[in-house]
Amino acid sequence: MNDATTAWTEVADRVFQRRYQPCDVTVSVILGADGPAVVDTRCSLAEARELREHLRQLTAAPVRWVVNTHVHFDHVWGNAEFAAPRQTPPAEFWGHTATAAAMNRAAEDPEAAAFKAELASRGPEQAAAMAELVEIAPDHLVVTAHTLDLGDRAVELRHFGRGHTDGDLVVQIPDADALLTGDLVEQSGTPYFGADSFPLDWAPTLDGLLAATGPDTVFVPGHGTAVSTGFVRAQRDAIRAVAERCAELHAGGVPLAEAVAAGGWPYEARLLHGAVERAYAQLDGTVPAAG
Ligand SMILES: [Zn+2]
Repeated sequence: MNDATTAWTEVADRVFQRRYQPCDVTVSVILGADGPAVVDTRCSLAEARELREHLRQLTAAPVRWVVNTHVHFDHVWGNAEFAAPRQTPPAEFWGHTATAAAMNRAAEDPEAAAFKAELASRGPEQAAAMAELVEIAPDHLVVTAHTLDLGDRAVELRHFGRGHTDGDLVVQIPDADALLTGDLVEQSGTPYFGADSFPLDWAPTLDGLLAATGPDTVFVPGHGTAVSTGFVRAQRDAIRAVAERCAELHAGGVPLAEAVAAGGWPYEARLLHGAVERAYAQLDGTVPAAG
């Protein structure tokens, strides 16, 4: 198995990115004197085992910290490969409180069970992956910010607000002027507005992220190649345009079923059903306001 689509790329000083299929998901590694921190773990234990092999190209040290940028399966389902009994001593698992809560809820959720059954039905390899899946949610939790001490450098785990999910955690590496965005930013695809997204909050969250970074910051998206601040600003503007168009249609009394077809979107309309549904729910007040 070799599902890497890139080699390790040092996007900033001792900060490495590698992209993997399926999902073109980014895995990032920050090297520190006390060990490596790995950000996101791919879609299965088998994929995480391949990741572990690839990590040996960077360091002989075991993974000391795992950070999950958010709850989605392509970012968290490899976690258990870095916990006992598969790794001893185990890594520490870090994430936002909302990410841990969502992972724990998913364990009981019939929709999540149906999704897993659908994945398992795709073929023998997928069935084996689902059979051995062990889900480990982060137990070191962040609400707004936490500094991770890697021994010779500090890494900031920061939550700027809701957007792609309610638990989006970014990883800022000040000494390298780099920031790992998770899926708050996507380069290889359109930002994904799912059933757990917050379209009205997303652009303000990116405003906060941009205010905390500089003109030369390197941004590593959850999917795609590293980008500049100009790219993030443009994506922020497009996401804001989606939110504003939703608000306009909602205020004009356009029913949900007709809103996507009304047009005026910065992205392909067929990709915006989730955005419109969630924005309408936020505008109707059926989604709780940010805490
Ligand atoms: Zn995601």
